[in-house]
Amino acid sequence: MGQVPTITTETIVQDNHRLDAPSRILIVDDEANICDVCTRMLQSGPYHVVSTTDALFALQQLKTGGPFDLLLADIKMPLINGLELAERAREIDPTIAIIIMTGHPSNDHLRQAVQRGVTDFISKPFELSELRMAIDGALHKRLLLQDSLRLRAVEQLLQSSEAINATLEHVQLHQTILQMALRQSACQTGYLLVSDDSKPQLDLTQAADDTWQLLPPGYTIANETYTRRVPVVIDSPDALCVNGEQQIRRGLCMPLRAQGDVVGVLLLCDDRPEVFRPGIQEMVALLANHAGTALRNAHLYSKLQAAYQQLQELDRLKSEFIAIASHELRTPLSIVLGYAMMVRDQSHDDQREYAQRVLESAQQIKHIIDDMVSLRHLELGEVPLTMEECELQAIVSQAVERMQLAAQDRCQQLSLDLPPDPIICLTDREKLLLILGNLISNAIKFTPDGGQICITLAVWSDGQLRAVFRRDVVSPDNITSVLEKANNAKWVVIQVTDTGIGIPRREQVRIFERFYQVADSLTRQQGGTGLGLSIARELIALQQGIVWVESTEDQGSTFSFALPYRVAIP
Ligand code: ADP
Repeated sequence: MGQVPTITTETIVQDNHRLDAPSRILIVDDEANICDVCTRMLQSGPYHVVSTTDALFALQQLKTGGPFDLLLADIKMPLINGLELAERAREIDPTIAIIIMTGHPSNDHLRQAVQRGVTDFISKPFELSELRMAIDGALHKRLLLQDSLRLRAVEQLLQSSEAINATLEHVQLHQTILQMALRQSACQTGYLLVSDDSKPQLDLTQAADDTWQLLPPGYTIANETYTRRVPVVIDSPDALCVNGEQQIRRGLCMPLRAQGDVVGVLLLCDDRPEVFRPGIQEMVALLANHAGTALRNAHLYSKLQAAYQQLQELDRLKSEFIAIASHELRTPLSIVLGYAMMVRDQSHDDQREYAQRVLESAQQIKHIIDDMVSLRHLELGEVPLTMEECELQAIVSQAVERMQLAAQDRCQQLSLDLPPDPIICLTDREKLLLILGNLISNAIKFTPDGGQICITLAVWSDGQLRAVFRRDVVSPDNITSVLEKANNAKWVVIQVTDTGIGIPRREQVRIFERFYQVADSLTRQQGGTGLGLSIARELIALQQGIVWVESTEDQGSTFSFALPYRVAIP
């Protein structure tokens, strides 16, 4: 076979009226004159033309010098004819427009041309207008084809992202990501490597199939991609993976990104270079972004689950501790209380005073244990309500009476604001006393000496209550659901207002949680277990009521609760 003289030219002709890039055309004809004529003809159009008389060089250009929008090729050429070149060009870029130049196409040529995806024929000799028309027509078809491929790609991407987002389970997610990437790229095999925060190297978490084994050069490239955070198209001298005698040296390694981090890489392997054409790279990159986010979400979800389980376990241990401690402390404490009382009653002067102090401290411990026991019973749903018709003024007065001494000790003014007409309502007297006791004792604790505490009682309409929740008040409960469930025309509202230290806004919901205390030295000075408000809240909820707080730091707080105003057992 003789040496084929090669002439290659490159002409860029820009049309100033077109805003988009000029179409790139590759002309190949073993006759230099045809190349020259065609190039000159196209000079007046918006084209970037590369022409060559060497079909092998043209093939090389298609592989590495592209992408081209159109291939204009002579049918008869030495080494590789126009139809074969068309077939290779279509493999490299499925959307390229191809026009074959021929003397007179035979039926056989036409059939072969259709099989190889040729867009059009142009018969030699041709006029400029014919060539322009054929080129414009073929380029238009390419655009349509690109649009339809893009649409298909978007469809595929949507399907992939749907599949990827459908699970948070790690193994299933890894399988889905790899399957989707292989389906979109049509690669022979692939691997997913994911980072584990505790290790410097990536972990191979998923392989497309067991027969292809990932080799050290594959691992190295994957780890480099992870560190450099940029995709690489691989054409390596060493095999990336191996299956018996078969080896693959080419591939695409794509970092999986999530919120600015790289969480792993996708390594796709195939020895056909055209598999990794730019369109496919873009698709895999998009998929990789979805996959990265999904992997991050799955990781966060499993961390959340683990934390939740830990929390549940802690909660269980806490409940168990409360149960054991309260049970074990009760008996010895009642002995201490009994003897302390006896010693106090039988002694005089200083000794009586000491015994009284022992008694008071033991009673404080008893309150704490009582709180713990109440909480345990509430938790187990073992708190029965004893509803009876009560006069609320009497209960509120009794609760205040019980706390008067403590308020006097602090020189605080504890006042009542009660409606003159008796409010008779169905309620559980003891529970109401407990709720009021907790709220009033908090008011006393968290109000400086000389402060004022006022307790009010009133009957509100449903509208009045709803209006309060339109203001900026804080409640640990779901207000809407409580209001709807109660479907109540009237409410009994009790409010405890103090001129105390107040509660920072961000803490106002949290203080209703068990054991929560505002982290403040003042609070700690006052002692307490952090159980009072959570018990009050649960006792209120038990009666279909609702609790809320309004407070300003250094000015004071108002703790309010509303109970359905019922006069007969529903
Ligand atoms: P305890 O009073 O035993 O600490 P509570 O559950 O009754 O537990 O209250 C939780 C926290 O809410 C208190 O530690 C305190 O920080 C805050 N708090 C409750 N009532 C008031 C109030 N009237 N004024 C200021 N802070 C309060």
